[in-house]
Amino acid sequence: VVRLSHIKKSFGKNEVLKDISLDVMPGEVVAVIGPSGGGKSTLLRCATLLETFDSGDLFYDDMTVARTGSNGKAEYAKSDVLRRAKMKFGLVFQNYNLFPHYTVLKNIMDAPICVQKRNKEEVERQARELIAKMGLEGNEDKVPCQLSGGQQQRVSIARALCMNPEVVFFDEPTSALDPELTAEVLKVIKKLAAEHMTMVIVTHEMQFARDVADRIIFMDGGVIVEEGPAEQVVNNPQHQRTREFLARY
Ligand code: ATP
Ligand code: MG
Repeated sequence: VVRLSHIKKSFGKNEVLKDISLDVMPGEVVAVIGPSGGGKSTLLRCATLLETFDSGDLFYDDMTVARTGSNGKAEYAKSDVLRRAKMKFGLVFQNYNLFPHYTVLKNIMDAPICVQKRNKEEVERQARELIAKMGLEGNEDKVPCQLSGGQQQRVSIARALCMNPEVVFFDEPTSALDPELTAEVLKVIKKLAAEHMTMVIVTHEMQFARDVADRIIFMDGGVIVEEGPAEQVVNNPQHQRTREFLARY
């Protein structure tokens, strides 16, 4: 679904991504773990075009989004290609990023109608299905501040899913939530994993990562230190650095 190849990204003199390659296959759930400042969010931001990288290649399916040119710098595709690429993924952040003055229903329906130009009735049907699936029935007409953090996060997951993405990226979806609300949100992500939704999840929830992910990637200092089947990385890490990190959980 998405392929990142030899991605490098610096902020000034700070090289934040040092030759990162990552392939996500259809139906795969990949968890990205690692210490603060390791470059996890930057990687997600590069993959989702919120940030440009300096060199490397990015593909969504057969679409070339960026490629390293002959001068060694990443060259991005034309804007219509970028626009189509953006339809392929959904994004869920730590802080929900809902429109505060839109109702739950409108938050979910806005982009499918305004960006994807889809039929309003069809979108509303799907939005109501997603609301049910996220356990949010009865909240359709509330605005975000009337909801708990866990509910708001589930709205933002519904909003991402209503775009029919091929892959959903999550950046620490539960780190702003207390344990109870965290559990609610992890439960819906698990449900999506059981349905083979393709997902890339940055998380500090190790148990969750081990349970839900097919593959875990441990990032530190801008490199992928270790990756492998979730069980193996958590229960039997190969690298000293990974062991030290996991020992803290
Ligand atoms: P955390 O677990 O705390 O979220 P992270 O692994 O997501 O950490 P990043 O947010 O990707 O780490 O940050 C990696 C490095 O890049 C850090 O040193 C950070 O200071 C730097 N960085 C990130 N964004 C910017 C920016 N917009 N401008 C300058 N430096 C940045
Ligand atoms: Mg981060």
